[in-house]
Amino acid sequence: MAELFIDGEWRQAVAGGRRDVSNPFDASVITTVDEADETDVDIAVRAAKRAFERADWSSAPTRERADVLWRVHELLLRDQEEIARTETLDTGKTLTEARIDIEDVANAFRYYAELAGKDGGRVVDVGPDVLSRVVYNPVGVCCLIAPWNYPLLQASWKVAPALAAGNTFVLKPSETTPLSTIAMIRLIAEAGAPPGVANLVLGSGATVGSAMTTHPEVDLVSFTGGLATGRKIMEGVAPGVRNLALELGGKNPNVVFDDADFAAAVDYALDAAFLHSGQVCSAGSRLLVQEGVHDEFVEALGARASAIRLGNGLEPMTESGPLSSAEHRAKVEGYLEIAREEGARLVTGGRRPDDPELANGYFLLPTVYADCDRSMRIVQEEIFGPVVTVERFRTEDEAVELANDTRYGLASGVWTSDAGRAQRVANRLRHGTVWINDFHPYVPQAEWGGFGRSGIGRELGPTGLREYQEAKHIYQNLSPAPSGWFKG
Ligand code: NAP
Repeated sequence: MAELFIDGEWRQAVAGGRRDVSNPFDASVITTVDEADETDVDIAVRAAKRAFERADWSSAPTRERADVLWRVHELLLRDQEEIARTETLDTGKTLTEARIDIEDVANAFRYYAELAGKDGGRVVDVGPDVLSRVVYNPVGVCCLIAPWNYPLLQASWKVAPALAAGNTFVLKPSETTPLSTIAMIRLIAEAGAPPGVANLVLGSGATVGSAMTTHPEVDLVSFTGGLATGRKIMEGVAPGVRNLALELGGKNPNVVFDDADFAAAVDYALDAAFLHSGQVCSAGSRLLVQEGVHDEFVEALGARASAIRLGNGLEPMTESGPLSSAEHRAKVEGYLEIAREEGARLVTGGRRPDDPELANGYFLLPTVYADCDRSMRIVQEEIFGPVVTVERFRTEDEAVELANDTRYGLASGVWTSDAGRAQRVANRLRHGTVWINDFHPYVPQAEWGGFGRSGIGRELGPTGLREYQEAKHIYQNLSPAPSGWFKG
């Protein structure tokens, strides 16, 4: 087997490195894959550069590129079940969620296939003697780096617009979750992308990731992952002055007013906090509840959270899977210790499950902490696990102030039956997405990204395509004559 895809061929790592890929449900090894190093990265980036300069993709009519994206969409739906099972094995998430992920991946390709041919630039009215046009060119060689929580979804939000715009790319999934990405690259090749347009390297962030982001032939770096890694990448990119897009973490407030539909708000508060064991950048892990319903809300949330069925994501009865790795669970458990030290009141969870069938996996019980306040680390830092903190508030102003008191700004939720209040609060929240009486939906037509330390730039929507384009102004004087500026 060979799992690196470079210049249209499946290849082994030059140095022969291999790595185990394991299932977080029981720590069993699923398979082994190639482990690249700096040499493979260099070969892949140079292949992407040659492909870009060959111009059979970068200068192809947008219709041709759109056709390839459209075929990828169809192939993803053809293989949806198989890829979803792979994603469940690799990440531990439930098969139901993985199926939705793959459908969303296919939708991202369809959206950018449809958008690709629609924007031929614009004519700027300068006067009768000038033809002035703004057109959008591909940026060049893109370095795309995706995280492990939504391996294929996050990769597709980069790959689809990058291809639609006419770029070539080198993609690296997380070392822990590469399998669905390998499957997608097969489909991009099957769909007819020319050799060198789509390249895949596998390996660790420290070695392969940093070799990619600092490679001199890379024109754009698009990264999704944690804040600390994003900062490191920004430093590495700075000397080369490359285009940079960062999709980073979040600590997302979910604000429940007294007049909200109580049952719906409790139900969605569970989804917001515990979907995929809270390993979601937009997880509603910071709950703000108005004083009139606070106590009843916390009690209902605790009861529902303790009833969540943990297990193997492939089993239909499972509602939530494990954390992604032993290291990640240890990090989340560190926050359980911090919560104890900070004096948060444990409502439910706060430990590993007793069930012996889960003993080999990286499980933690869904955890609710009440009596929290904004000064606590568990309220301000991204835990990225099945942990939700609850704060009490009195007024609308206080709710907005608390919700905006975060260094992040990715997403937020507002629950109220007062339409005016819903819009007032949404307008004041400094978060890239605001859900009203809902939590978590995203659509490819609408931009995704964060205020503050949640990142730089936007994915999805028309802006998600612009990230991969350079604007160019073409100005033609239709009646050239001497200007007479210099008199000599
Ligand atoms: P991470 O540790 O920052 O890693 C993300 C990716 O970067 C992985 O492919 C990783 O490779 C790679 N990487 C690590 N160090 C690198 C380096 N020095 N240079 C280049 N690449 C490097 O993040 P994660 O733990 O995988 O993902 C969780 C984080 O992603 C959370 O903070 C979450 O909020 C954020 N996230 C944000 C969004 C969003 O849309 N804003 C979406 C999903 C996730 P290896 O894993 O192979 O080492």
